[in-house]
Amino acid sequence: MLIANAHIITWEEPNRILPGHGILVENGRIAAIGPSADLAASHPGVDTIDAHGQFAMPGNICAHTHFYGAFARGLSIPTPAPRDFLEILRKLWWRLDKALTLDDIWLSAQVCLLDAIRHGTTFLVDHHASPNAIDGSLDVIAQAVEESGLRAVLCYEVTDRDGPEKMRAGIGENLRFNRSLEGNPRPLLAGTFGLHASLTLSDATLDECRAAAPAGTGFHVHTAEADADQYDSLARSNLRVVERLHRHGILGPRSIAAHAVRIERREIEILAANRAWVTHQPRSNMNNAVGCAPVETMLQAGVRLGLGNDGFPNAMWEEWKTAYLVHKIWHKDPRRMSGIDIVRMAIYNNASLAGEFFPQLPIGRIQVGAAADLILVDYQPFTPCTPDNLPWHILFGFHDSMITSTIVNGKILMFDRRILTMDEQAVVAHACEASARVWQRFEKSFSGETND
Ligand SMILES: [Zn+2]
Repeated sequence: MLIANAHIITWEEPNRILPGHGILVENGRIAAIGPSADLAASHPGVDTIDAHGQFAMPGNICAHTHFYGAFARGLSIPTPAPRDFLEILRKLWWRLDKALTLDDIWLSAQVCLLDAIRHGTTFLVDHHASPNAIDGSLDVIAQAVEESGLRAVLCYEVTDRDGPEKMRAGIGENLRFNRSLEGNPRPLLAGTFGLHASLTLSDATLDECRAAAPAGTGFHVHTAEADADQYDSLARSNLRVVERLHRHGILGPRSIAAHAVRIERREIEILAANRAWVTHQPRSNMNNAVGCAPVETMLQAGVRLGLGNDGFPNAMWEEWKTAYLVHKIWHKDPRRMSGIDIVRMAIYNNASLAGEFFPQLPIGRIQVGAAADLILVDYQPFTPCTPDNLPWHILFGFHDSMITSTIVNGKILMFDRRILTMDEQAVVAHACEASARVWQRFEKSFSGETND
């Protein structure tokens, strides 16, 4: 397949913008890049998509998300609104996840995947919880991912909050799914080992997870998302959260510490020294009122920091814009959080994180041999647009609705805004029915409780 007449944004380092170029795709990878007319002449008869001057760029990457949370949209909590982060967990997420069956997991993954295709997010790192449907839950999500045509890294969140039996079922689900990928490579899928957060994991459970996971396994764990995680960790261990996770062998070069909002200098040094990944989700942090992560300090300290969405819509440029704005108001300084730092997280670091899980396949840049995971963006700049000022064109000019086509592994998932791999109307109709039943179970979980 040849994508002709594109303005290519390569997102190499340094970045290049190549007007009037084409991309030749073969076997899921980029086989050639060159002036469009030259590629068309040297490859006559090849299937051709005319980009009509649109921008072609690597698909967006989301470093931390929760497909299972999709049915929270529009859900009301039948008690006074949560006052803090722990109440948000107790009143919302720890009831919604218990209301999910395997069928619901299938549909909530599908609506998130539809949203990701439409918004050009081609690679997602998911963190799943469904305490009443643990066994096989990752297979259900994996099948939805493969049918959608997107790429994803999956895990199940182990936690002590529902007792030792479900804790061990969570460990088992991670191990079972990861083993199923060994010797049976599925080009769109990878696995990791999920942990909920320090505040719901005992020392014994952390050790059990560490012992169960094969050497080299990474962990994906919420880390110091709110003060409550730090107070809990200090009470349990006299250690701060990052120190505690490090002490139990959880933080390594394939581990993802999501959020790291309430951390101190010593914890930043530990994250950097262990080459652990941190992900930033400013929309979620604002929504939960947990504070603003010390992102620039972490970047300067050498922490490998990516950008996720924590279950917010898979419109990653919205996350870019939120990150760009919130640090300015938080510090009352318009020089904070430059577009270059946003690109460092969302483009280069997210691409490197993807590479941890697909080491044989360059992802997140347009170069020969890289994954053909691409989007076309119908953006018409009315000021000069160069590699140097591109971050600000994206921050102030790009909208996710400008994405017209999404391609992963050389397969077209959306063309001219029509989704080709999924029946969007049928998925949405089924999700509406299923989510109404999930909401009934959610509501029922409050019956008999005092109204506080
Ligand atoms: Zn999360």
